[in-house]
Amino acid sequence: MQDYFSAPFPRRDSVGVPVGNVLVGGGAPVVVQSMTNTDTADVDSTVAQVAALHRAGSEIVRITVDRDESAAAVPRIRDRLARLGIHVPLVGDFHYIGHKLLADHPDCAEALAKYRINPGNVGFKDKKDKQFAAIVETAIRYNKPVRIGVNWGSLDQELLTTLMDHNKANGSPLTAVQVMREAIVQSALLSAELAEEIGLGRDKIILSAKVSQVQDLIAVYTMLAQRSNHALHLGLTEAGMGTKGIVASSAAMGILLQQGIGDTIRISLTPEPGGDRTREVQVSQELLQTMGFRQFIPIVAACPGCGRTTSTVFQELAQNIQADIRTNMPIWREKYPGVEELKVAVMGCIVNGPGESKHADIGISLPGTGETPSAPVFIDGQKAATLKGPNIAADFQVMVADYIERRFGQGRQAAE
Ligand code: SF4
Repeated sequence: MQDYFSAPFPRRDSVGVPVGNVLVGGGAPVVVQSMTNTDTADVDSTVAQVAALHRAGSEIVRITVDRDESAAAVPRIRDRLARLGIHVPLVGDFHYIGHKLLADHPDCAEALAKYRINPGNVGFKDKKDKQFAAIVETAIRYNKPVRIGVNWGSLDQELLTTLMDHNKANGSPLTAVQVMREAIVQSALLSAELAEEIGLGRDKIILSAKVSQVQDLIAVYTMLAQRSNHALHLGLTEAGMGTKGIVASSAAMGILLQQGIGDTIRISLTPEPGGDRTREVQVSQELLQTMGFRQFIPIVAACPGCGRTTSTVFQELAQNIQADIRTNMPIWREKYPGVEELKVAVMGCIVNGPGESKHADIGISLPGTGETPSAPVFIDGQKAATLKGPNIAADFQVMVADYIERRFGQGRQAAE
């Protein structure tokens, strides 16, 4: 039996789906993806944001394709990105008129690496299946995968009503919430079945079922995971701003990932006005890294500080080191293979400082209140130097850079 408290469950078996040059599911590492919030018809802004999201670590980027101008812009966006050396798979997000846009803009259909279909608004009444089929047939023609992305806010009302009536006729054994969850799951599975009947392979179908409540998300994805082997895209919709969005998404997805459920994730955060869209990529990476699923960036361990640290030196140093690492990572990833495994510790005083620093690859224990104004630095578990004076922070940053060069740089390769 799985020891729930010491390790995640084995990953759920899912059919791998290639999205451009990225494999989702089929045992591949959990993929980080994101979505732009620019007007896709504005090629300059969209190219800039896709490039920023990709440089921050987004392995797939979704863009809105909502009208002719956006669809016409897609191949230009793909080409401009290619000229920048960026070959990130672009996913088109379609609602209501996806069938028409894909038919009218074959270059767009070809340029996209995946189409997202929402079965709740692909069309209504007798047009629903026809328009859904048209998108699936386009996917087959261009050899593209689709994501069948159910969203509770645009849930297929006919299906929900049918299930509600059925439940009532049976004496209402399920609560309204349970029926709603069942409708979401069925909407995804029935749409996938229909796509497969039309001729789209299971290796071309990813499922998602987004809701805005943590418990609903856990329930819905657990049901989907039990009832299919499709690759699953995890995401909490309308997660919200700031810490609320981060906590809600991390709580829901953390539990699912721990159970082996989820092949790709997107953390949807509402940015502050003028805020940085790449934050959602950073949070996705940190979720996967802190849970031990993937390594993206060196970890900086820092104590929280307490009454023994009356200055802000150690907070500033921890912040500077972390910011330095994030800024340099796009270059370091190429220049220093393996650098993402680096562990740095920045500690505030002697109580836990030396111990934690020794466990890091390179760590510093700054002087707390009343301690001698010197800071021992530990490298690979051994005391390597004691920094003193007003430049402790700057000196430590130089030591970190030297350590990275020595351990992960050309020098190491020459010595091997
Ligand atoms: S290491 Fe020192 S400064 Fe940091 S939290 Fe612990 S006691 Fe406080």
